[in-house]
Amino acid sequence: MLPTQQGSFRLFRFKGIDVHVHWSWFLVAIYSVSGRLPNYASPIWAVLEYLALFLTVLLHEFGHALACRSVGGSSDQIVLWPLGGVAYVAPPPRPGATLWSIAAGPLVNLALLPVFVGLFYAYRAAGMLHVNSDLTRFLQAIIVMDVSLLVFNLLPVYPLDGGQILRSLLWYPLGRARSLLVATIIGFIGGAALLGLAVWLQSLWTGIMALFLFSRCWRSYQEAGALRRLEALPRRPGFKCPVCHAAPPIGEYWVCPACKGTFDPFVTNAVCPHCQAALALTTCVDCHNARPQRSWDASIVDV
Ligand SMILES: [Zn+2]
Ligand SMILES: [Zn+2]
Ligand SMILES: [Zn+2]
Repeated sequence: MLPTQQGSFRLFRFKGIDVHVHWSWFLVAIYSVSGRLPNYASPIWAVLEYLALFLTVLLHEFGHALACRSVGGSSDQIVLWPLGGVAYVAPPPRPGATLWSIAAGPLVNLALLPVFVGLFYAYRAAGMLHVNSDLTRFLQAIIVMDVSLLVFNLLPVYPLDGGQILRSLLWYPLGRARSLLVATIIGFIGGAALLGLAVWLQSLWTGIMALFLFSRCWRSYQEAGALRRLEALPRRPGFKCPVCHAAPPIGEYWVCPACKGTFDPFVTNAVCPHCQAALALTTCVDCHNARPQRSWDASIVDV
């Protein structure tokens, strides 16, 4: 259950990253603007407050996407939907690269905080806050919004940023698979606490969010199991992935794109034994990058 391009339209493209907005954002827009109307004398400030939220979430997601690219990962899509934004990031499978790609999002909120607080004090020094009480409430609201986003995202509940940061830190001592396993188990506990909070607060929104986190956490828990099985496979010496440097597993784990038969390209020199089709690229089972077979030769020194 992840937002996809379905039901979304492309808003714009920046640095090769497509920004999609799900249609339901407009329902949320109407809902949140009308909810904020009583706070202001003029309705324009409720609209501005919503736009500030939209922009802050967008900047947060760009933080993830650009950080992921800076460490050699790929990211080409951001989708904004009612439960927040999602930046589709695929950092290289290393703890440091993953940590930076995830931490960059909350760091954007942290960097925005002095900007918002600075604006508040600048307007106060200029005496503007007494002139326009709507402006006062607006500036206070965006500071509260930014802090709330920061705190919520840093909850150590996988797959929230905090949970993924925890996972990246655990990756160093525990490895890729076990760190994900531990982080998702903590995520289940956190998700249950959030669900309890939703019942206590009688908040439908918190309940939906908790269920969403649960379902994502469950998928990642299964992924951790798959990663553990992958890590346990015997590996073939003499070859290594040119991207992540992992040796390929021994066995017929590759699918021929022509005949769909399975084979081991490291035995057949990248030729399908069923239909004789030559495999242009060999995909790494560990990092999912596809590179020509000859670049997998471990005797070739990287330059
Ligand atoms: Zn984030
Ligand atoms: Zn790889
Ligand atoms: Zn084939």
